[in-house]
Amino acid sequence: MPQKIIGLLGGMSWESSAEYYRIINQAVRARLGGLASARCLMWSFDFAEIEALQHAGKWDEATALLIEAARRLERGGADFALICTNTMHRMADAVQAAVAIPLLHIADPTAERIKAQGFRRVGLLGTAFTMEQDFYKGRLAARHGLEVLVPDAADRALVHRVIYEELVQGRVEEASRQAYRAVMARLVAAGAEAIILGCTEIMLLVGEGDASVPLFDTTAIHAEAAVERALAGD
Ligand code: GLU
Repeated sequence: MPQKIIGLLGGMSWESSAEYYRIINQAVRARLGGLASARCLMWSFDFAEIEALQHAGKWDEATALLIEAARRLERGGADFALICTNTMHRMADAVQAAVAIPLLHIADPTAERIKAQGFRRVGLLGTAFTMEQDFYKGRLAARHGLEVLVPDAADRALVHRVIYEELVQGRVEEASRQAYRAVMARLVAAGAEAIILGCTEIMLLVGEGDASVPLFDTTAIHAEAAVERALAGD
């Protein structure tokens, strides 16, 4: 049976979409060997347009853009789709309602892995939208029974600023790595048993070894879940 076609809603930012593309293809090669690579389609947004809508609170306009792009992927033959950013899962339900193909929600495989390792109280790093609004934390709690801790206001502002002023622009700064390490240490002191890297660029900055608890990288988990589904025999 041929691989299912993975549809990727990317460009948010392309710095992380490039990681999705790399991880997905590496995972297919690891599973199938030889010259195997993934069958996938990517729609890549102009992130300047998306970011402006986010910070202006124009979520309805952003939702319309995501729906339009998901329909492009569907028309192009994608069997299922991924939104390659945590933040834009704010409109995941609306996007899912607008297309017939399934949307693989980034929080679900992340939570499954966390639970499989026996953790229940997790720290969450992401954009202010992800850390402060309910669409992401709420799903982790309601669907998966996880208790979610977020950094305090000053730390949330720092984490958000580094994402938008550095990581989505391809800048990886040592000072910011140290700052993130300190934020994660404070989450651990507050009781976090594990930490979700809940923004798809954070894995460019920190990894295992930067915290005293396990880190759950949503980029890798989401990409690997896509490959699982693409290769599943159903
Ligand atoms: N990629 C980031 C995330 O996972 C932030 C960029 C965006 O706002 O989409 O939330």
